[in-house]
Amino acid sequence: MGATLPKQGTEWSKLKTEMETRGSHDVKWREGKTAVYVFNAGPDVAEVQKEAYTMFMSENGLGPMAFPSLKQMEEEVVQMGLGLLHGPEGAAGNITSGGTDSITMAVKTARDFARAERGVQGQCNIVAPWSAHPAFDKAAKMMEIEIRRVPCTDLLADVAAMEDAVDGNTIMIVGSAPCFPFGLIDPIEKLGALAEKKKLWLHVDACVGGYIAPFVRMNGGDVPPFDFEVPDVMSMSADLHKYGYCAKGASTVLFRSEELRSHMIFDCADWPGGRMVTPTLAGTRPGGAIAAAWAVMNFLGEEGYRAKHRQVTNAREAVEAGVARLGFRVLGRPQLGIVSFTHDEVDPFAVWGKLFERGWFTSLTTEPKGLHLMLSPFHESVTGTYLSDLEWALGEVKAGNEGKKREARYS
Ligand SMILES: *Cc1c(COP(=O)(O)O)cnc(C)c1O
Repeated sequence: MGATLPKQGTEWSKLKTEMETRGSHDVKWREGKTAVYVFNAGPDVAEVQKEAYTMFMSENGLGPMAFPSLKQMEEEVVQMGLGLLHGPEGAAGNITSGGTDSITMAVKTARDFARAERGVQGQCNIVAPWSAHPAFDKAAKMMEIEIRRVPCTDLLADVAAMEDAVDGNTIMIVGSAPCFPFGLIDPIEKLGALAEKKKLWLHVDACVGGYIAPFVRMNGGDVPPFDFEVPDVMSMSADLHKYGYCAKGASTVLFRSEELRSHMIFDCADWPGGRMVTPTLAGTRPGGAIAAAWAVMNFLGEEGYRAKHRQVTNAREAVEAGVARLGFRVLGRPQLGIVSFTHDEVDPFAVWGKLFERGWFTSLTTEPKGLHLMLSPFHESVTGTYLSDLEWALGEVKAGNEGKKREARYS
C-alpha cells in the first residue's frame, strides 16, 4: 500500500529478485500442491508457452492487416477447437481473453440474434442450472438480462424444471460440460431436445471441459455427447488456458455457423478515428496469448493431449479410490479433471484448513459442503502424498484439532 511511482527507475536484476521473493509466498503450485487456478502440464509445455508468448508479446490481435500472422494463428486455433468439438461445416469462432469473456460474448450474440431473428423485445432472460458458472450472471447483469437459475437434480441440470422456467423471452438455455463445482456433464442431449422443441439457443459451457473431454473419450473414457454433435447446440465456450494447457488469457467462443457469429461482431464507424471492427469484448488483443495457444496446440497434438489427459484421469481415479477408502463420498460420477467429495461426519471445510497447514491449496463446494480438486497432469505424481495428508487431516479434525476454516470464495 502507499506505493508511488519511484522518481528514478530500479535495475531489472534487483526488481527480478524482489519479484522472486514476493512469488515465494504464493502457493507452491509447481510442486503440485495446488488444485485450483493453475494447470501444471510439465516443464516442456511451460517452455513452449513462455517462448511463444514472448515472441508475440507486443503484437496486437486488433490489427489483422498489420499482423496476418496472428489472424492466421487465431483462425487455426479456432479450426482445431471446432474440429475437436464436432463443429459442422461453416462453424466459426474467435479467441477471447478467457471463459468469462467467451460466455459474455455468447450471451450478447444470443440476445442480438433473438432480437433480430426471433422478434424478442423487452426484458429477456437466460435459463441456467444452479451449477452454472457466475460468468452468466455477470454477463446478464451487464446487459440487464434476467437470469433464472434452476435447482439441479442429482447435481445435474434438471431439464424438466428448466423447461418450466423458459418463456417467450428466453434468449438462451445453458448446460455445462462439465460444471465447475462438481465436474459433472449436464444432460446436453436432453437440453438439446428442449431447445429443439421450444426453438431456443442452447449454449454449452465447456470452459473447463472443451479441451479435455474429446481426449478422454479417445482414451476410452465414457463421455456422453456434449458438443456440436448435439444438433441444437448453437454456441460453446471452451478455455484454452485451462485443459488446453495454453498460457493465460486464451479461450474460444464457438458458433454453429458464421451467420450466428455475425451477431457477435461490433462494427463502429461513428467517431473520427475510422471504422473499428472487433469480434470480442477487447479492443487490443494480446498477441502473446494467441501465439502461445497456437504453439501449445501444435506442440502437443492429439497424441500429446491424450498422454497429458491420461495422467489427469489417472490422478482423478487414484483420488476417487483413495478418498472413498477414507470414508469420503465422491459427488456424482466425474469423468474429466474435476472431482469433489464430501464426508457425512466431519466438516470438509475443517479438513481443508488442516490440508492448508501442509501447503495444499485446493477448492471447496458449498452445497453440499465438499472438497474440490481440479487436477493437472503433474498431480499424477503427488496423489499418494495428497491422500496421506488427507488421512492425517481427517484424523486431526476427528480428534478435535481443527485448524483454520476457509470461507468458500474466489477473490
Ligand atoms: C473457469 C470457468 C469459467 C470462467 O472462465 P475464466 O477463464 O475463469 O473467466 C466458466 N465456466 C466454467 C465451467 C469454468 O470452469
